Amino acid sequence: MPRIAPARLEAGATVLLEALGTPDPAAAKVAASLVDADLCGHASHGVVRLATMYAPMVDEGTLDPAASPTVDDADPGALRVDGNRGFGQLTGRAAVDAAVEVAAERGVAAVGVKNGAHMGRIGEWAERAAAEGFALLAFVNTGLAGRTVTVPGSAERLFSTNPIAVGIPTFGATPHPVVLDIATSQVAHGKVTKRSVEGDPLPPAWTVTAEGGHVADADAFEDGAGALLPLGGRSAGHKGFGLSVVAELLAGVVGGGEVFGEGTPGSVNNAAAFVLIDPARFTSRERVREAVTTLDDYLADATLSAAIERPDAMDGDRPLLPGAPEHRTRSDREREGVPVGDRTLDALAALAADLGVADEFRLG
Ligand code: NAD
Repeated sequence: MPRIAPARLEAGATVLLEALGTPDPAAAKVAASLVDADLCGHASHGVVRLATMYAPMVDEGTLDPAASPTVDDADPGALRVDGNRGFGQLTGRAAVDAAVEVAAERGVAAVGVKNGAHMGRIGEWAERAAAEGFALLAFVNTGLAGRTVTVPGSAERLFSTNPIAVGIPTFGATPHPVVLDIATSQVAHGKVTKRSVEGDPLPPAWTVTAEGGHVADADAFEDGAGALLPLGGRSAGHKGFGLSVVAELLAGVVGGGEVFGEGTPGSVNNAAAFVLIDPARFTSRERVREAVTTLDDYLADATLSAAIERPDAMDGDRPLLPGAPEHRTRSDREREGVPVGDRTLDALAALAADLGVADEFRLG
């Protein structure tokens, strides 16, 4: 797979964003978020989205490429951010920036976010909060769109992949914050789309059909076959389903978004509830460092069995804290470049041609 230097990929993405109608410096900020998703191993939320999702949304009028978020901080106990259906990468930043200011003063800040369009990789907002020394809890819904996930006992597409993210700063105990950033389905839908673009099959554990089977063909899934299972799969899907319900409601209530059943599904329009906490109000930074180090050392002593399947990101050596896989992948790719699949490159080049910027858009 071709590898592209992150700066070059960012410059290419900025060209596409500007051609879509996003002014500078907003275009560069969105490009940086997309390339960071590619860098840390979540290509599903990286530059491919410009071709597969954002350009079509701009065309259909559900994403305003020139809009910027507005922040209402009249009540510091209840910050409100309206993304105005601009790029969600800008809205996520604005929400964290506003919350950091309030949490620095009060120890805690709650933010309701609406009209976020697509806020990308939610872990980015947890990482940004942690970089400022704050923990973040994020609950996100998709504004009636993205109905790809079923509920326990069904194969009907009723819910979306509603992500939840939690970030905890470690104040130097680890080279990265602890960040759990997950779709409440077996996988994010973007991972299916990525496989469809690249022509790769889907693992059986991801989906279910009304006959009790699964969908192996990513294109067939994209055409409506079967549904994604909630996190926990066939035996424990009630857990992912429950997490998805609380994200749906918190984003609907605190964020002021809609919840399933309230209207006609359209394009994705993330709403979110963010809560920032200053851990230093509860304990010292030294205690946080000590707690993280002790837990990490404890996990390092776990006995692993060769007979038990391990997730890809483990590298087979020891359990990792959440956030470590992204940190490792980012470090490698900053050095060696970002692998970008041929079909993704083709999709981006086609978009550049459509937008009349084929000459300016050069990744090679
Ligand atoms: P995933 O299954 O890759 O899980 C990622 C999380 O698990 C990370 O926190 C990572 O650090 C942790 N992790 C992975 N392997 C690990 C290991 N071996 N040990 C310890 N921790 C490990 O992610 P996903 O559920 O497919 O979601 C992918 C992305 O999709 C997320 O960034 C999410 O925010 C995003 N998403 C966005 C939306 C939206 O509407 N904006 C919707 C759904 C998902």
